[in-house]
Amino acid sequence: MRTKIVAGNWKMNKTFSDAEELLTEIAEKIEDINLEGIEIIVCPPSLYLELATDVAEESKFAVGAQNVNENPKGAFTGEISVEMLDSVGVDYSIIGHSERRTYYKETNEQLAKKVDACLEGSISPIFCFGEVLEEREANKHFEVVKQQLEESLFHLKEAEMENVVLAYEPVWAIGTGKTASPEQAQEIHAFVRKTLADKYGQALADKISILYGGSCNPKNAKELFANPDVDGGLIGGASLKAEDFVSIVKSF
Ligand code: PEP
Repeated sequence: MRTKIVAGNWKMNKTFSDAEELLTEIAEKIEDINLEGIEIIVCPPSLYLELATDVAEESKFAVGAQNVNENPKGAFTGEISVEMLDSVGVDYSIIGHSERRTYYKETNEQLAKKVDACLEGSISPIFCFGEVLEEREANKHFEVVKQQLEESLFHLKEAEMENVVLAYEPVWAIGTGKTASPEQAQEIHAFVRKTLADKYGQALADKISILYGGSCNPKNAKELFANPDVDGGLIGGASLKAEDFVSIVKSF
């Protein structure tokens, strides 16, 4: 069975005390939930990662960064390395979020290097990919998604690929309130799994968790997660309130 995952991407939100409060509330609310087969990942701003791993140590969630630099160390002002993440107990990093692709011009090629850096350390990448609205309207979403996977991930060996989490995030659905329909999500997730199977074989494709992200909330999570190829969600806005985030976790 694939691991079901709900990951919360806080983006650039929360002060230190707000972050402390949210982490504590999440820890309290998940205390009595049966999380067998389910992984909860909280991805706060990097400033709060150590705080998050401290709370996580006594709780049932894992911690992820929102980004990482592809270089091991050195003169990269403002950046954070895989080794640094690892040294405070972080287990995951979001890689290739559409906001990083758009605002910071991260390319498929650069993202391949970030994925490599994560896997050379002990960080599992949560690799984000997805089409913009014009690409979907032109029915190019399958081809766009395939290219993103090929250019950033398909150089990986099987043993490396097993440690990657995928997050399909149609850009038109992120922070817009427009969610992909359950049918749209299942269609493209099945396509992604088939693309993985063609490259790595069905057994490996069946092991990889493919999350959906884009205006997922407590109202629509159940219908989205009910699809056979949707293994959970990467949650933005709705991860900022413990009640909403945990209610999404309960949607499996
Ligand atoms: C995201 O930023 O990864 C995301 C899915 O955001 P939202 O849930 O707010 O659409």
